[in-house]
Amino acid sequence: MDVLIKNATVVTGGATGEIINDGALAVQGDTIVAVGKTSDLESVYQTFTVIDGTGKAILPGFINSHTHTVLNVLRGTVEDMEVDSVYMYMTPITFAMNDDERSALAALSCAEAIRSGSTTLVDPGRFVPGYAQTMVDTGLRLYLSETCVDAVTTKIRLGIYEYSHEWGQDFLKRAVALAEEFHGQGNGRIQCQIAAHAPDNCSPWMLAELNDLSQTYGLRRTTHLAQSVGEVEQVRKFAGVTPAEYLRDNDWLGDDVLAAHWSHCTESDIEILAESGVHIAHCPASGSRGGFHRAANMLSIVDAGVNVALGTDNMSEDMFDAMKIGIALNRGKRGDRARPTPGEMLDAATINGAKALGREADLGSLKVGKHADIVMVNLRTPNMTPVINLLSNLVHYGQAGNVEAVMVAGRFLMQDGELTTMNEQDVLRHAQEATVSAWGRLSEIYPDIPALQPPDW
Ligand SMILES: [Zn+2]
Repeated sequence: MDVLIKNATVVTGGATGEIINDGALAVQGDTIVAVGKTSDLESVYQTFTVIDGTGKAILPGFINSHTHTVLNVLRGTVEDMEVDSVYMYMTPITFAMNDDERSALAALSCAEAIRSGSTTLVDPGRFVPGYAQTMVDTGLRLYLSETCVDAVTTKIRLGIYEYSHEWGQDFLKRAVALAEEFHGQGNGRIQCQIAAHAPDNCSPWMLAELNDLSQTYGLRRTTHLAQSVGEVEQVRKFAGVTPAEYLRDNDWLGDDVLAAHWSHCTESDIEILAESGVHIAHCPASGSRGGFHRAANMLSIVDAGVNVALGTDNMSEDMFDAMKIGIALNRGKRGDRARPTPGEMLDAATINGAKALGREADLGSLKVGKHADIVMVNLRTPNMTPVINLLSNLVHYGQAGNVEAVMVAGRFLMQDGELTTMNEQDVLRHAQEATVSAWGRLSEIYPDIPALQPPDW
C-alpha cells in the first residue's frame, strides 16, 4: 500500500534532524519516497492512500539495541531481589522453559515493543531457533542471535565456573541453525548476529569459534560487556585483564560489534572501546532498577567518541521509559540540567541504533530512500500538551500510550491503536499461562532456587 501521511509534525531525526510543522511523508512499498510540507507533497502523491496526521507527530521507529524478549517471564520479580539475577534466575529459567513458553513470552514482548513505538529489536537469546518464527510473524525488524557460552552457566550461581567444549557446541549448533534458517528472511527484515554472552562465560576457544562463524556467515557480532562485578572478577581471575581488554585480546572488538552495558569499564577501557569502533548499547532502565548507578555514565563514553545506542535489556520493551530513565539517571549522576539533551536521547534510540547495526544508510531517521519504519504519536493528550519544544516533550513525558500507529517496511503493525499482526488478548493469556508453567518447572528442576508462584489468570 502506498501511503501519504499529511498535516502531521514530522520529526526527521533527533539532535541533528529537523521538525517539519504541517508536514507530510510519502511511503511507496517499503520505502520513504518523500518528506516535506503537506502543501508540497499533496499534489504530487494524489494516488496514494491518505492518512490524516492532524495533531500527530511522525518519528523514526525506535531501535531497541539490546533486549531479551523471553526474559519478561521474570517481570516484577528479580528487579527487587538482592541476587545475581543473571545466573540465579535468568539463565536457569530459560533452560527450564520449553519452546512454546519461550514463544509465548517473545510474542508478549513484541506486542509491548510495537505498542511503545519500537520497529527494530536486537534480541540475543537462548534456544532461539525454537521461537524465532513467532517473532518473525509479528512483522518487526529483528536482529536475532543465539547467545553462546562454553561456561556451564547453570552452575555459576553455585560458585562454579567450569568451561566445556561439549556444552558450548550445543550453543554453536543453534547459532548455525538460526543463521541458516532465518538470516535475510522477509526481504532482509530478519538479520542474525553472532553473540557471545559475556566475557566471563566465553573462553578464548569459544570467542574464536564465534569469530569463525561470524566470518563464515558474514554476520555482525554482539555481546554483554562489563555487566557485573562478578564478571570483572572472573575475567581477572582467568585472564588477568579487564573484560574490555579480554575482548580486545581475543579479537572481539571492532565496528561490527555491539556491546551492551560497559557499566564496570575503567577509563582506559573506554579508550580501548573508542579506538576499536565498538558500539555500545546503554540500558539505563534495567541497570538502575538494580541500584546500578554506575550505568549512568553515558556522556563519558559518548564524549570519548563511542557510538552509544539505547536498549531496554530485561523486563520491559518500552523505549519511552528507557529514554526517560536514561536522561534522568545520567543528569542525576552529573548534576547537569543540560545534557544529555532530549535530542541526544532520541538519537540514541534511533539513528545511533542504526549506526550500531551498520544500517545508517537505510534505517534510523525519516529520509527519502530509507525504509519506512515509522511511529505516529498522538500529541493531543494531557501529557503531551502544551507543545513548545517537541523533542523535550517526547523524551521527558512521552508514553507508550501515546503511540497510535507503527509501520515497519511500509506495513502497519499497529494502526488506530490496534495491533494488526497479533491477537493481543490471546498473546496476553498465553504469556501468563506460560509464565505459570515455567516458574513451576523452574522449582522442579532447580530446587535450590527460591521460586515464586505466579497466579493463574
Ligand atoms: Zn542483556
